[in-house]
Amino acid sequence: MWVTNINGTATGDCGCGSWLNHWENLSGRPVPQTCAVITCYYRPSAGAHVQKEDGSDSSWFIVPLCEDHNESNSTLDVGSTPLVPAEATEACAKIASGRSSAGHAW
Ligand SMILES: [Zn+2]
Ligand SMILES: [Zn+2]
Repeated sequence: MWVTNINGTATGDCGCGSWLNHWENLSGRPVPQTCAVITCYYRPSAGAHVQKEDGSDSSWFIVPLCEDHNESNSTLDVGSTPLVPAEATEACAKIASGRSSAGHAW
C-alpha cells in the first residue's frame, strides 16, 4: 500500500494518549518493532497521518513511522501494515474509560 505522509496537525486527543497508542488500539496489534515503511528498520517514533496514494479514499489514516519518515512528506510503501482512521472512535473512548476505571472487576 502506497501512502503519502501528511505533515502537521499531529495533535489531537482521541483518548488513546498518542497516535501510536491509537494505532495499536484500533489495529489490535502491538506497535511493530520497525517503521511501517517496508524498507525501513528504524523503530517507530509516532503514529503518522497519511493518505492513500491511489486517491480511492481522501480520509486520513494513522501508521507507525520512524522519526525520519514521519518528517518526510514523500510517498511511502507501507506494505501490509494496517491503516487505522485518524479520528476518535468508540474504541478510543472505551479504552480511555477503561484506563480511568482501573481496578479488578473480579
Ligand atoms: Zn484513539
Ligand atoms: Zn522509517
